[in-house]
Amino acid sequence: MIPSMKPPEITVLSLGGTISSTGEGGVKPTLTGEDLVSDIPEIADVAEVEASSFRQSPSGELTLDDLIELAGEIEDSFDSGSSGAVITQGTDTIEETSFVLDLLVNRDEPIIVTGAMRNPTLPGADGPANLLAAVEVASSESARGLGTVVVFNDEIHAARFVRKTHTQSPATFRSEAAGPIGGISEGNVRIAARPVGRRNIRPSRGGEDRPVALFTAALGDDGRMLPELPRLGYVGLVVEAMGGGHVPEAMVGRLEKLAETMPVVLASRTGSGDVLEKTYGFPGSEMDLLGRGLVPAGMLDGLKARLLLSLLLRSGAGEDEIRDAFRNPYPI
Ligand code: ASP
Repeated sequence: MIPSMKPPEITVLSLGGTISSTGEGGVKPTLTGEDLVSDIPEIADVAEVEASSFRQSPSGELTLDDLIELAGEIEDSFDSGSSGAVITQGTDTIEETSFVLDLLVNRDEPIIVTGAMRNPTLPGADGPANLLAAVEVASSESARGLGTVVVFNDEIHAARFVRKTHTQSPATFRSEAAGPIGGISEGNVRIAARPVGRRNIRPSRGGEDRPVALFTAALGDDGRMLPELPRLGYVGLVVEAMGGGHVPEAMVGRLEKLAETMPVVLASRTGSGDVLEKTYGFPGSEMDLLGRGLVPAGMLDGLKARLLLSLLLRSGAGEDEIRDAFRNPYPI
């Protein structure tokens, strides 16, 4: 920053998680957004930060309604002059929350999601370094237009690719499809690649919940729980199939029946690579399932496909729009 320049205004919203967890007998989220920021004096050299606590919970407690409200709060902060937003939260669901925020907020100001793998009571706690790096990225002109990104372990990951890959490692976040899109070195933000295309979805605030189930196909299972889904209130399903998009033959009739009444999306349980569409022809193969009305998830894994389908259903999308969104999730 040139000394005479006014530092950028950055909003920090804390949601809880390991980064804010302290105490004895098992840590719990206790530190507020203000506590997290005031622990890192270096932040004042980078930005003028306005911190607050949006939620105080483990990240598995967050819901789509919370994220829709959070997206509104982020947009309000941008309207009031903030040039970037940092969300601190539990790492367990960062690959989901960042993906949803990326779809909900269509602004050039960067949105950075971060957290910690080692809580503040442990030697080598990574929260302060991650939060400082997140504020640096949020303050950087070069991060404008990237959408929502995850900053962790000095790497920058696009929300559309990132996944949590390890239970404890500070290097848990990986982007199998593309690698990190940038990094932070001695406070300098380097963007190496920019994600192509953008999708914006506007679900109605306070709209009806449209529950989507996520089901993983497994060796020897016939999917006997599947016919129960409509009775349980589910209005959509994402199947994490084996390999390129395969299930045991015993599951096929059940999936076909569901696809007659609700969108059923075919993803892969492998965690990376597009689901196949025209390679295998055996019963239970991707060609068999797609011929029976399932929708290919394209590049999206099961967790992200479930969220895209949930948001599309909440915004009133019909079958054509749903198929189109999975075929081309990020139009240019
Ligand atoms: N292990 C989690 C974390 O990293 C707990 C959570 O997601 O809240 O914060």
